[in-house]
This record gives sequence, C-alpha cells and structure tokens, in this order.
Amino acid sequence: MSSNKPPNNANLDRVVAQARREAEQRQQGYRERALKMYPWICGRCAREFTRANLQELTVHHRNHDHDYNPPDGSNWELLCVYCHDNEHSRHIDNIVGPSIADDAPAAATSNPFAGLKALLKK
Ligand SMILES: [Zn+2]
Ligand SMILES: [Zn+2]
Repeated sequence: MSSNKPPNNANLDRVVAQARREAEQRQQGYRERALKMYPWICGRCAREFTRANLQELTVHHRNHDHDYNPPDGSNWELLCVYCHDNEHSRHIDNIVGPSIADDAPAAATSNPFAGLKALLKK
C-alpha cells in the first residue's frame, strides 16, 4: 500500500505466502465467528449444544462454497454433524437426480436421522 518499489520475486513469494496464511486463518476463523453470531442450535433438528459437545456442531455454507464467508454470516448455517452430512448428500442427490430406492422406502422416509445416527455410532 505504502511501497512505491516494484516487488521483486522474494517479496512476491512473501506476499503470496502471507496471503495464503491469511486465507487459512480466515477459514479457521469462520467457525468461531459463526458460533459467536448464531445460537448453538442445529438449524435442522434443533438440537442444542454446549461447550461439552460443541465439536459436533459444524458450520455449513449455504451455497456450498467454503471460500465465500461474508462478514454478515449470511452464507453460514450451524448444523450438527448428522444434519450436515444429510444436507450434503441431499445436495449431491439434487445434482444427479433422485435415486430410486428399491428397498423399504417407507422406513427410509419416516425418520432419516435415526438410521444415520445408528450407522455413525458403529
Ligand atoms: Zn441436526
Ligand atoms: Zn456444509
């Protein structure tokens, strides 16, 4: 900003390294910021979180772009790991089209999270 010298290669490397470091810090920082901005509740299943189980509360990017972190938090949504997983598989479903399940469709729609939780506990 204040320099009027053209950057040499060493400076350029340093600038690139610094920019990369700052980008990494920003990415680590968005979770903290989202947790300060929003109540610790899953946006899907309304499960509440405390410091004891906060690691299971994750930040979802509404547009699925992890590099898009507007300061007003409009691209963030707090989801528990189960709902977050579900959100992403749903997103993939939307791309490839709904899969036609031939095994017990009624059971699958009644409570999708119960089965998922049981699977993850194994
Ligand atoms: Zn949830
Ligand atoms: Zn996500």
